[in-house]
Amino acid sequence: VRVLFVSSEVSPYSKTGGLADVAAALPASLAAMNHDLMVVTPLYSQVDDRRHRLHPVFDDVEIKLGDRAAAFSVWLADDGRTWFIDLPQLYHRASIYTNDPDEHWRFVMLTVAALELCRQRRWAPDIVHANDWETGLLPLYLRAVFTDDLFRAARTVFTIHNLGYQGVFGAGIADDLGLGDQRYLLHQEHLRQGRIGFLEHALMYADALTTVSPTYAWEIQTTEMGMGLDGLLRRRAHDLVGILNGIDTTVWDPRTDHHLPANYSESNLDDKLVNKWALMAESGIEGGAEVPLLGMISRLVSQKGVELLIRPLARLLAEGRVRCVLLGSGERKYEDALQWLADSFPGRAAYRRGYDEQLAHLIEGGADMFLMPSQYEPCGLNQMYSLAYGTVPVVRRTGGLADTVTHYDPATGEGTGFVFQHYNEEGLTWALEEALAVFPDRKAWRRLQLNGMAQDNSWQRRAGEYDELYRRLVGEEPS
Ligand code: ADP
Repeated sequence: VRVLFVSSEVSPYSKTGGLADVAAALPASLAAMNHDLMVVTPLYSQVDDRRHRLHPVFDDVEIKLGDRAAAFSVWLADDGRTWFIDLPQLYHRASIYTNDPDEHWRFVMLTVAALELCRQRRWAPDIVHANDWETGLLPLYLRAVFTDDLFRAARTVFTIHNLGYQGVFGAGIADDLGLGDQRYLLHQEHLRQGRIGFLEHALMYADALTTVSPTYAWEIQTTEMGMGLDGLLRRRAHDLVGILNGIDTTVWDPRTDHHLPANYSESNLDDKLVNKWALMAESGIEGGAEVPLLGMISRLVSQKGVELLIRPLARLLAEGRVRCVLLGSGERKYEDALQWLADSFPGRAAYRRGYDEQLAHLIEGGADMFLMPSQYEPCGLNQMYSLAYGTVPVVRRTGGLADTVTHYDPATGEGTGFVFQHYNEEGLTWALEEALAVFPDRKAWRRLQLNGMAQDNSWQRRAGEYDELYRRLVGEEPS
């Protein structure tokens, strides 16, 4: 199957979150299954084109959209699969995402350029797979503007990686979209209310919808968690499936992870302790092996449950019962709260503000437990990294966390972590106390670690579900 996969971030070239990991690993796994993949993404100034040895393929490819015209260049990565749209005036900014007035236009151009690139290559996709709001207009453009033969057979898939980001702009941008007499295809009621949401148009026009875990697929159809789009999602329930993300085992495997001072597996799990010492030394944490070390790596936004964490953690730190290393950046108030913890408990708590790949690996390799008290979590990757690294996750039962972590039962020895239900401090405290009660029992803890490490969350397994979906769509007649 020929698949055009369009994403606003692709690891390792550009990354702010899990989407980048998925946009790298899923196409790679599908390519290994003999599908023909073309991944298209912007050439941001943040992409290190020399390090990644990108080579130029096309120059001056013209796009016309309504009465606007532009020309872009195209670069190709070494993998022969990842194509970069070079439009410096749009993609050379201080960050990957911006609040600039042309933010909508930056991603309209990505969407349209990806299709234009297919024309340039005379490459007819069977499947066009768009991701998140940035490429949410792809199915609409295929219906309204890119109607030539090349795209006639193309079926569209849209994946919701996070419903919290919907790309909603003022109705004033309608003229920029170049839809001409097809403008009636825009959501008319919202247009009258003065807004255009990119993501909602994908929910209206994609042939198939996916999201990144079965539980999240169900949650977003409820009023509580549907963020205003639950009605639309319920109407498309038949076309919506939840497929869990996988982890890229070439990057996240404790046996081979080159960021770790000591590699380890189920058979030499004691060597994990070497990483704990290294993590503590690097973070200025004092204490012995018997004191549990908690880790967290997170974009610090309200979704991630940071506010739940501060008081329970402060109490445990004050009592000297835990140590913690926290990594992340985001909203100022959360950064300040974590900094406050580190300042209040020197030698017990450390906080690194920022984005740090090396430290992220060392936390997964060195911590005893991993914290993810998310309010909602479409899939979540770090809990799966934690399972693979024998770092026991403490999570809330939501989205992908509910689908990948099961609560430990001391009676049977089954379970992979500690799971709480209610989004409040009591819930989290309960789960932490459960974990702290098991930790001193070395045998039980080892069992818990091994249970998690035995779980197969690889992309090799998950890509099979996309493979099935694509085949099913290609076998159907176009609507
Ligand atoms: P989200 O996509 O909502 O941010 P995920 O758990 O799906 O959450 O994916 C987050 C990804 O980004 C993981 O690979 C995680 O390790 C990484 N990450 C997030 N914040 C940081 C950070 N400050 N430093 C290093 N890696 C980070």
